[in-house]
Amino acid sequence: MLIFLFWKITFLKIVYINQIGYICNHKQNGDSVSLVNNRIHKMKRILVSGGAGFIGSHLCTRLINDGHEVICLDNFFTGSKDNIAHLMGNHHFEVVRHDVTYPYSAEVDEIYNLACPASPIHYQHDPIQTAKTSVMGAINMLGLAMRLDAKVLQASTSEVYGDPIVHPQPEYYWGNVNPVGYRSCYDEGKRCAETLFMDYHRQNDVRVKIIRIFNTYGPRMLPNDGRVVSNFVLQALNNEDITIYGDGKQTRSFQYIDDLIEGMIRMMETEDDFTGPVNLGNPNEFSIQELAEKIIAMTDSSSKIVFKSLPNDDPKQRQPDITLARKKLGWEPTIELEDGLSRMIEYFKGSKTNK
Ligand code: NAD
Ligand code: UDP
Repeated sequence: MLIFLFWKITFLKIVYINQIGYICNHKQNGDSVSLVNNRIHKMKRILVSGGAGFIGSHLCTRLINDGHEVICLDNFFTGSKDNIAHLMGNHHFEVVRHDVTYPYSAEVDEIYNLACPASPIHYQHDPIQTAKTSVMGAINMLGLAMRLDAKVLQASTSEVYGDPIVHPQPEYYWGNVNPVGYRSCYDEGKRCAETLFMDYHRQNDVRVKIIRIFNTYGPRMLPNDGRVVSNFVLQALNNEDITIYGDGKQTRSFQYIDDLIEGMIRMMETEDDFTGPVNLGNPNEFSIQELAEKIIAMTDSSSKIVFKSLPNDDPKQRQPDITLARKKLGWEPTIELEDGLSRMIEYFKGSKTNK
């Protein structure tokens, strides 16, 4: 009797395990489904161009943690293998060295198009390549999405507003951009990419999403990319002069990376008839002088503030109007500047760039 009971229980266990296995490997309407945290979960194959960069590496991590398969496409101009080292052993994660200005093909359900240097130092280093990356990269990713009927999200930027006259900036403001300046390779490249996204949508029914990202900071920012948060934190930690460009009265709104990633995922999940563009940024606005003083206080630094000349076409003010993101994505930033800055300070304290 006992032996019979033992075999019965074992048999039932095998049936149960097989059913779970069935769920894990089953294809529903062409989509793989799996069990994640005891919930049936639709596993997608997702391409992230620029996946080895600052934002891209955080996005790849989030997508892998959400149970998806990720192809990270990058030419490693500003990205690095260090940024994605923690994902390398994962069999759902794949890295492809490729320049998005050339066509690429793979079977995917969704594409996040992030490939493009973001800091002024890097995008002005080879402005022709920057414009090509924005425009040809967009055409190549849109062409792929069209062939596969995949959804494609464009990482656009607050730079499409240029030096804005309307403040804060809502999505329906068309901007004030210099078409022939030092920032134009990036600003106009990104504007043209937005145009292409909307034309592929209208002409070819491609399912597109456009987000306009405002200044974002967090771990894995390159220490040498000249962005204000990384510069100030490193200068303060090393008790070096804090370099304010101009009079420090220009403003920016700083968003912590985790808030942005949440907004990106929510945007990709919206209904097909919602294309954006939608602003993703933190509406709390600070002058560059305020930022410098805050970082000096938080690091207990002996750094002095010094004033240097303002770069060409440096926008005077930036603040996102996030009414649309609140309404359509149910999203708003949750991480205050001080909280994000302390995480950033801890990150740079632990990294080898802090002398
Ligand atoms: P990043 O420079 O860290 O990442 C860009 C990535 O794209 C890098 O890994 C780089 O190697 C890769 N790349 C560049 N040119 C490429 C090419 N031709 N082919 C393939 N890969 C290429 O920058 P980031 O801050 O992570 O920015 C990611 C995206 O978000 C960019 O499109 C940027 O314009 C946009 N964005 C960023 C911010 C921000 O505050 N960081 C603000 C607005 C928009
Ligand atoms: N900035 C500064 N000191 C620095 C780096 C930047 O005063 O060491 C200023 C820069 O001129 C700009 C602002 O900080 O007014 C934000 O610069 P960043 O390059 O981070 O972003 P973007 O200008 O693209 O918004």
